[in-house]
Amino acid sequence: MNEFEFKRNELLAAKVIKGLASRNMTGYYAPSKEEALRMALELIPLGSSVTMGGGESVHAIGLPDALKQGDYNFIDRDDYEDKRAAMLAAYDADVFLSSANAMTEDGVLINIDGNANRVSAIAQGPKKVVFVVGMNKVCDDVDGAMKRARNVAAPINVQRFGLNTPCAKTGSCADCKSADTICCQFLMTRYSRHEGRIHVILVNDALGF
Ligand code: SF4
Repeated sequence: MNEFEFKRNELLAAKVIKGLASRNMTGYYAPSKEEALRMALELIPLGSSVTMGGGESVHAIGLPDALKQGDYNFIDRDDYEDKRAAMLAAYDADVFLSSANAMTEDGVLINIDGNANRVSAIAQGPKKVVFVVGMNKVCDDVDGAMKRARNVAAPINVQRFGLNTPCAKTGSCADCKSADTICCQFLMTRYSRHEGRIHVILVNDALGF
């Protein structure tokens, strides 16, 4: 990223943070992944139970590793043979970590899910939700964000998981009803009724898909 793109992202992040505030959510600007990690750890009190549902951007800033090494109860679903038990534990966690498939300049978050464990935990359950979002995920409006989620994030994720869908073969969304589709549930987070629950760290970098 050159200095002009960096500056543009910095300016745009201020607009996104204002939009989030209007929706009772809190935004933060991190100029680097290292700063994003520091901010995320500040939002997570020591001793917290923490979990996540996927989230390449969360991994990209090194947050899961930092939590596993620190004084936290990190609930790793890979440690559970019973995946349903892992999902139920996530709903009762103090903190849920997530990236976003896309978001708008005025603070609306868009997420798509196959199993719905991630979108359901974002919607309710965990006491606090911390999003880590690269500025590459910010789109003009809801229409643009939905298009990004359907035409960029989802086709890349099906490749990642080795699924058998039309987009895995063509790279673009065919609005499929395949058994393997990951586009089962769409969550648009446009307002939080719960003060202090949703926090969004905007990272001036390209993170995730
Ligand atoms: S609806 Fe189907 S084709 Fe479209 S992105 Fe989702 S999985 Fe791929």
